[in-house]
Amino acid sequence: QAKGDGVREPLGYMSSMETGALEKKQFENHLWNAFQAGELEVFYQPIARSSDMGVTGLEALIRWNSPELGYVSPAKLVAAAEESGLIRDIGDFVLDRVCQDMRHWPDLRVSVNVSPMQLRDPSYPAGFQKILKRHRVKPHQIEIELTENVLIDDPDAAARKLAELRKLGVTVALDDFGTGFSSIGALRSFPLDRIKIDRSFVQEMTTNPESIGLVRALVAVADSMKLEVVSEGVETAEQAQMMRLCGCEYLQGYLLSRPAPVASIVELLEAAPPAGAVVENTSSLRR
Ligand code: C2E
Ligand code: MG
Ligand code: MG
Ligand code: MG
Repeated sequence: QAKGDGVREPLGYMSSMETGALEKKQFENHLWNAFQAGELEVFYQPIARSSDMGVTGLEALIRWNSPELGYVSPAKLVAAAEESGLIRDIGDFVLDRVCQDMRHWPDLRVSVNVSPMQLRDPSYPAGFQKILKRHRVKPHQIEIELTENVLIDDPDAAARKLAELRKLGVTVALDDFGTGFSSIGALRSFPLDRIKIDRSFVQEMTTNPESIGLVRALVAVADSMKLEVVSEGVETAEQAQMMRLCGCEYLQGYLLSRPAPVASIVELLEAAPPAGAVVENTSSLRR
C-alpha cells in the first residue's frame, strides 16, 4: 500500500517499533496544531535571594493544557519539539511572550530555557536580539538557561554565540548542575554567570546528610569559577535554610511559589515587592 493515499494498514500488522514511531509522529502533529492554535502558554516561577527571600527574577516555563490530552509535561513536549524542530518556533514564542510580559516587572531578570537545537540555528543569536529589540527589552533583563547537553556537539560554536550575547548583557545559567557528565574543566572554558543546582540534590539533603557535603562542594566549585549559585526545587523551609547554610545565594521552588500565570505572579509581586525595587514601607517585607 502506497503511503499518502489515506489508506492505513491496521495497527495489528505493524511492529511495535512502527507503532511507536507512529505514535510519536501523531504526538508531534498534535503539538504542531496546538502551537498554531495558541494552546501553549508561558508560566513564571520566582527566583529569590536566599538571605531575605526577596524576588530577583523569574523563570519562564512552557505549559500545555491540551483540550484533548490534558496536561502535557514540558519534558515530553520539549523532547517532541526537539525531534520535529518545532522547538525553534516555540523558543521564539516563549521569548516573545517573556518580552511582552516584562512590562509587569521591568526590574526583574527573566530566565528562558534554551535548547541546544535553538543555539545551533544559524539565525541565533540574531533572531534572539531581534525579538528583544522589537519589544525594547534590554539584554540585561534576560537570562538564558542551558543544560550540559549544549556541550555535547560543537561546544565552541555554542560558546561563541553565548559570548556574543553576554557582551550585550544577557546572562547565562547552567541548568540542572550536577546531573550531567561534563567535566568541570569543560565548564571552566564556557561563558557562564550562574549555575543552578539540580533539584535532586536539594531533595536528598534532608534525608541523606552526605549530600550536604556534596552541595557544599558544588557551591565551592561555583565560587572558584566566580559563578552565582541558584538552588532549584526548594520545597520546605528546612531545605531553604540548609541551602542558605551551604552558601547558596538564590533559591527557587514550591516554597516560594509554583510556576504560575502572569496574573498570579503580578499579585504575588504586589504582596511581596521584588528585591531591589523601591519600597516606602519596608514592614510589608518582613512578614
Ligand atoms: P528546568 O528548566 O530545570 O525547570 C525546573 C523544573 O522544576 C520545572 O519543571 C518546574 O516546574 C519544576 N520545579 C520548580 N520548583 C519545583 C519544586 O519545588 N519541586 C518540584 N518537584 N519541581 C519544581 P517543568 O515546568 O515541568 O519543566 C521541565 C523542564 O522542561 C525544564 O526543566 C526545562 O528543561 C524544560 N522546559 C520548560 N520550559 C521550556 C521552554 O520554554 N523551552 C525549553 N527549551 N525547555 C523548557
Ligand atoms: Mg530551567
Ligand atoms: Mg533546572
Ligand atoms: Mg532540574
